[in-house]
Parts: sequence; C-alpha cells; structure tokens
Amino acid sequence: MSNKHLEKDPSCKDDFDPKSLSAHAALEQIKASIKPVRGIEKIAIREALNRILAEDVRSRINVPSGTNSAMDGYAVHGTAIPADGTAELTVLGTAWAGKPFAGSVTSENCVRIMTGAIMPEGADTVIIQEDVQVTETGIIIDAATRAGDNVRQAGEDIAVGDLVLTQGRRLNPADIGLLASLGIAEAPVVRRLRVAFFSTGDELRSIGEPLSDGAIYDSNRYTLYGMLERMGADIIDMGVIKDDPNALEEAFAVAAANADVLITSGGVSVGDADYIKDILGKLGQVDFWKVAIKPGRPLAFGHVGDAVFFGLPGNPVSVMVTFYEFVQPALRKMTGEDTTGALTLKARCDSHLKKRPGRVEYQRGILQQDADGNLTVVKTGAQGSGILTSMSQANCFIILPIESSGIEPGMYVDIQPFSGLV
Ligand code: AMP
Ligand code: MG
Repeated sequence: MSNKHLEKDPSCKDDFDPKSLSAHAALEQIKASIKPVRGIEKIAIREALNRILAEDVRSRINVPSGTNSAMDGYAVHGTAIPADGTAELTVLGTAWAGKPFAGSVTSENCVRIMTGAIMPEGADTVIIQEDVQVTETGIIIDAATRAGDNVRQAGEDIAVGDLVLTQGRRLNPADIGLLASLGIAEAPVVRRLRVAFFSTGDELRSIGEPLSDGAIYDSNRYTLYGMLERMGADIIDMGVIKDDPNALEEAFAVAAANADVLITSGGVSVGDADYIKDILGKLGQVDFWKVAIKPGRPLAFGHVGDAVFFGLPGNPVSVMVTFYEFVQPALRKMTGEDTTGALTLKARCDSHLKKRPGRVEYQRGILQQDADGNLTVVKTGAQGSGILTSMSQANCFIILPIESSGIEPGMYVDIQPFSGLV
C-alpha cells in the first residue's frame, strides 16, 4: 500500500469547517433520541451466548453446595490437633468426592478425605497427606496445621441470593459456564434488534454481475452484514437501490415498516442528497449533519416511521468508522448493553501521521509490542476513506484528536483495539 497518490483526500482542503458538529455532540444527540426496545426472550443458555442479559441473575444455590476438602488428606476435628508434639488418631474410613463418609468424627479419630469430598460430620479441618505419618492403625499428626485449614466452606464462592450477572451484560463463554454452575438452564435476554440496510448508487453491482465501465462491487452491505452479525442483530439485507427517487422511497417505506433500525450507505453527501432529503422529509424526521470526523463526515440521522435511521457515507472506510462511532453505541443503547469495559490505550506511534486540525481522525493502525513489552503502533499505509484494505490489515484505530496537526515517530497516541469494539 504505497500508492502515494491515494493518500490525498479530495475534501481535506476544508478540514476546518465551523459548521461541522463534533463527533461527541453528534453521539450525544443520537443517544438522547434512542429508546431501549422492549421484549425479553427466555432461551437455553447455549443459545444465549453473545446475547444481552435482560434481568439480573441471582444464585439459587450455594457454590460450593457443601463444605468440602480443598486437599487430599485427613479430615479431623480441630481440637485433635496438639498444641505441641504429636497425637495419634485412628482412621474410620474414606470420604470421596461424590461419595461422602456416613459416620462422624471425634477428637480421637479422623477420616481419609479426597479433594472435593464433603466434610464428614464433626470434622472442620483437613491435614494434608504430606503432613501425616501413616501407622498400622491410624495416623500421627503434629502441631503444624491450624484448625479450619484446607476446607472450602459451602457458599464461599457464591452464596444463595448473591448477584452473579447484571442486566445489560453481553454473555460470554465464562458467563454461560457460570449459569450452568448454578443449575440455570435458561437465561432472560433482550430480543434481537431487527436491522434493515441497503446500499445506494447507480455505480454499484452485486457479486455475480459483470463490472461495466465505472461500476464497482458493493462492499458496504458485506461489512455492514459482518458488523451487525457480530452484534447479534436480526438482519434484513435489502440489496442495492438505484439513485432513483421512486425506488428509494419504496425501500425506505418497506424498511420502516419491518425494522427497528434502517442503515443506508451512500447518497448523503452534499450535492447528491437532495432527493433523499425530500423523501425523508415526507417519511420521517431526519437531520443531515457534517460531523467533524475523518473518515466519515456526512451523516444523516433521525427516524423514518418508527425506525431509527442512519444514512452513512458511501466510502467503505467511512461506513465502518461511522458504524463503530455512532451506530454501534446507538444499537447498544437500544438493547441496554452495558459498555463500561471498552478500552482506549496509549501506544508509541512508530509512523509519521499526516493530519490537519479540525476533525477527529480515525487512522488505521497495527498494534504490536516491542522487545521490552511496550505497546507500539504503525499505520497501515494509505489512509484514504475508500481504501478498505486499510481496515482489513489494521487491528486498531489510532484516534487523533480534533486539534492534532500530525504525529512524529516516537509520540504517544490513543488507540482503540478492534477486539474491544465488538
Ligand atoms: P456517495 O456517498 O454515494 O457519494 O459515495 C461515495 C463513494 O463511495 C463513491 O466513490 C462510491 O462509489 C463509493 N460507494 C458508495 N457505496 C458503496 C458501496 N456500497 N460499496 C463500495 N463503495 C461504495
Ligand atoms: Mg452515491
């Protein structure tokens, strides 16, 4: 990716535009107008992987369920342990994990016990097997073990009634294992969002169609598909719609009637948006914004019928940046997802990054570690908004603040790992 001419962005001469809305203000406006969806499903915990928990989950059992041994050894009564010197105890039998010992222990005797076995009645301490001397009739113990050692108390991990998972959590493999450990077969999750999307543009062809002069394959529907699928949305792919007012009006109406959210790409930049503006004026309430973000400046947002509407720019990288910056937080608010875990990290930038003040930039970077374990980042190459390979090669965004006028190698930058975005 060293085609120098691709580095030029045709719109960079007006990077500073006082009429632009800041990315932060745009996101706040979007979030303020989003309402969480209603609708809870109870589904089997395996199906609940990656879904959003709709209610708090409390434990109905103790974990561990019974007081048990943490080690292989001998279960004794604490008073059997001598203050100094040694004591001899007879062995009554064995307690196995899953096969408890039926009798009870006094200060004269003990029970051989395996890790995980329920403590026999009367015993409160386990002396590990390495610390005893086995005789013909029993064992000899010394003063080294303290009363209560090597025992796991019932409920010491989770007690009955403890809060284990909080509403809004995106369930991960550990969570579904945790639910299983509590004997919970089904989890209450927020229903999937229905998200419709289509691409606009006379130049767009679908895969399988021949490419005539000036035509390009539609990639935005595929990146949108991937990003939405990862979020667990119910997807309605409406294909490519031509730059034709009737076809667009029809598509907007169909989407609004069937989806919670409609996302389009292309056709919202200054110059070609006018009839989309007219149509949306008839069907809903939509604002057209210039957002001080690069890539991805033109953005339409509002409501079409009852559906939330995002009109994303056409350029493939702009689609992804605006999706992650604006659409994803909105969808998360709709499902009530808790997003407190998202990380922004500092890394040493080993590339020269060109930038003009006036917009927040999301450059594409490759995050690595140097030999000393420090986080370092390099850019992926050409950073034009049409260069989708930059997103494919990257594993993070390098976020440059609005006032930044570029980065020299060795300076520190904010990066957002892609793995934290989804
Ligand atoms: P527009 O916002 O419609 O002016 O499009 C901006 C640029 O993005 C143009 O070069 C389009 O050809 C390109 N573009 C628009 N939609 C798509 C798409 N679905 N897939 C790939 N490129 C697109
Ligand atoms: Mg277009």
